[in-house]
Amino acid sequence: MIETTIAGSLPKPSWLAEPEKLWAPWRLKGEELVRGQEDAVLLWLKEQEDAGIDVVTNGEQMRTHFVHGFLAPLAGIDWDKKTSIRIRGNRYEAEVPTVTGPLRRMGSVHGDEVRFTRAHTARKLKFTLPGPMTICDTIANEHYERRADMAMAFADLLNQEARELVDCGVDVIQFDEPAFNIYLDDVKEWGMAALQRASEGLTCKTAVHICYGYGIDANIQWKKSLGSEWRQYEEIFPLLDRSAIEQVSLECASSRVPMSLLALLKDKELMVGAIDVASHRIESPEEVAATLEAALQFAGPERVLGCTNCGMAPLPRPVARGKIRALAAGAQLVRQRIAT
Ligand code: ZN
Repeated sequence: MIETTIAGSLPKPSWLAEPEKLWAPWRLKGEELVRGQEDAVLLWLKEQEDAGIDVVTNGEQMRTHFVHGFLAPLAGIDWDKKTSIRIRGNRYEAEVPTVTGPLRRMGSVHGDEVRFTRAHTARKLKFTLPGPMTICDTIANEHYERRADMAMAFADLLNQEARELVDCGVDVIQFDEPAFNIYLDDVKEWGMAALQRASEGLTCKTAVHICYGYGIDANIQWKKSLGSEWRQYEEIFPLLDRSAIEQVSLECASSRVPMSLLALLKDKELMVGAIDVASHRIESPEEVAATLEAALQFAGPERVLGCTNCGMAPLPRPVARGKIRALAAGAQLVRQRIAT
């Protein structure tokens, strides 16, 4: 009851990559890099376990960015052909690789890192993959006629990968789809279908993470433009509720999302974002508990998990550590109050 998990990413230690920066290049190379990434996974598993997090992740310590980690070894992508595009609904510019041919998966992408992570924790393990629509928003297309076709091609490859990771012992596969909050018409036309294709036939728990982005400036400005109530979820949740996806990770802490929208997800498990990743201030356990208790007005305790609003990759390491502890402590408070 009221289990805890994080959205996915955690800061890289400063010896592994430049801190507080998205797309930060590695500071190690070759074999040293792999060992360094493994060490970083171990330290974050320990931090999560010590804090009391129930469903742990490897903090995405083995990828430079949450989207490009999966794309790196695929055939059909030209990494030298960098195209500058405005992404996430024209919010900011990114240099992205270009799809120039049919997409193919040449072998396992994340198998080694999942086997390593699985071997070092007995807790439930969640693994995050980028959702097909968010991938399409983070890459240039010169091959597929329609973005929807490219999304389905990525969905097929994600499904192949996810099936392999389930065999490696993953308990939850989560697809990260921040783009769902931006391109509401595309979600209805092809985004949901692609997400369902990606998660089809998986025997572990399936999840989707839909947020308002990392706590970077471009996102903070965007949120200011969204008005007094953020109702994007209202369009998406009814579709998700009819899908086979079992868990939905959503943003609630310091956000203008009306909690009443949770009622649209009638039987999904809700990963309630009770940690604001756009602020360096560490929440008190009492604040975390208040957010979770607000969610409990719309879903029973068996359906509510405590989570972070989004990934914590761009935060300073001590801040992320403090927020993990606050999350676990806040959920514990709620459990105690329910039990008495
Ligand atoms: Zn997010």
